[in-house]
Amino acid sequence: MENQRGHVLVVAYPAQGHINPLLQFAKRLASKGLKATLATTPYTVNSIQVTTVGVEPISDGFDEGGFKQAPSVKAYLESFEQVGSRTLADIILKYKNSSTPINCIVYDSLLSWAIDVARQFDIYGALMFTNSASVCSMYWQIHQGVFTLPVEQETETVSLPGLPPLGLPDLPSFLAQPASHPAYLAAILEKYGILNQIDWVFCNSFDELESELVKAMLGQWPLKMVGPLVPSAYLDQQIDGDSAYGASLWKSKNDRCTEWLDRKPENSVIYVSFGSMADIARKQAEEIARGLQASNRPFLWVARDMENKLPRGLAGETGLIVSWCNQLEVLAHPAVGCYITHCGWNSTLEALSLGVPMVGVPQWSDQPTNAKFVEDLWKVGVRVKKDEDGIVTGEELKKCIEEVMEGEKCKEIKRNADKWRDFAKKAVGVGGSSDGNIDEFIEKMMKRER
Ligand code: UDP
Repeated sequence: MENQRGHVLVVAYPAQGHINPLLQFAKRLASKGLKATLATTPYTVNSIQVTTVGVEPISDGFDEGGFKQAPSVKAYLESFEQVGSRTLADIILKYKNSSTPINCIVYDSLLSWAIDVARQFDIYGALMFTNSASVCSMYWQIHQGVFTLPVEQETETVSLPGLPPLGLPDLPSFLAQPASHPAYLAAILEKYGILNQIDWVFCNSFDELESELVKAMLGQWPLKMVGPLVPSAYLDQQIDGDSAYGASLWKSKNDRCTEWLDRKPENSVIYVSFGSMADIARKQAEEIARGLQASNRPFLWVARDMENKLPRGLAGETGLIVSWCNQLEVLAHPAVGCYITHCGWNSTLEALSLGVPMVGVPQWSDQPTNAKFVEDLWKVGVRVKKDEDGIVTGEELKKCIEEVMEGEKCKEIKRNADKWRDFAKKAVGVGGSSDGNIDEFIEKMMKRER
């Protein structure tokens, strides 16, 4: 049956940093008149509250509790491929004879097997990267043999097309220490073998932010920037009701945060968060606490499940510690003047899109590269230096906070942050670079043009 309107099935890996951008992409397609459905695992489906996008469960083989039930990352990813392929096919069959058969699968880059399911049903397939295009290009270069693993400690810098010279500490941890997470690295590299054969490769970023890289990759793989994939209300867009991601794996008490922030002067508050996955060691948490206290400024810390590692009475008169918040609402609040971040890609892009200066405290994965770019390429913050034990001391953190919140450098950082915020809004606005890429995709997908 021919579907005149177009139905896109967006398949998300069940982590907060993946569901957010993929759901956002689905909402953007729906706002352009398509039917969009998000597929994610049964234990995350209930956290999704959106009206414009349909939701379907797809099984990873661990329906009760997901990833935590799996014996290893490798076992989890293998199970997801096996069971997920079957349930993805079931979803396609479910809609096949309806008035809205699925025309296209947009799949998360960690689920590269989804393209085989799309091909099995002769459906258009598109990949979505949830990292920066620069980081994706590094994995691509590895795959092409432009540089090899392991990167030698002695190698001073790696020179790659479209990127600034990168030292070992600037590389994603999967490349700097390839033995640290072999299953993730294998899953990441797997898709690069067919990258130049896929019709559409989307990235949650925008052309202006990574312009040199986009030029350098032209013709190598079909990269299309479609971000920032942030709810439209935060980018001054007028898409009805789109003022939150609509998916939260934890409960936030944002009324408490907003009320607290409302009582603070403009640009005075330090927001601290290490995202949804990082596990900060007790010693490191204590040093961060020392740095915050020494900076003598109000702070809002999302401690998630590490509250027991924080010194007693830390919040005192000046701080607020919560386990989870609506991060966009916090970053958009005028009282927030600095974001101490792990530099997860979504968090980095959110801060860039909202003009919030950053102190980068990267942990693993792509975070070291994002922190490097925050400091040296986009110049919207600074990156902490770690001591010989890999710890960021309280003194170092205080120094970085001061650089970002006072003095001459602070003014330059703020000017750059405002500049990138404006570019981000323009990219997603009508006729902007990312908006145009989405329109082109829809047009070609509906005509089944490659
Ligand atoms: N986030 C949130 N509330 C919090 C902390 C994080 O809503 O208290 C969201 C944040 O806005 C971002 C996502 O969780 O969209 C985290 O993704 P990111 O890529 O930054 O880091 P990850 O959690 O994957 O390490």
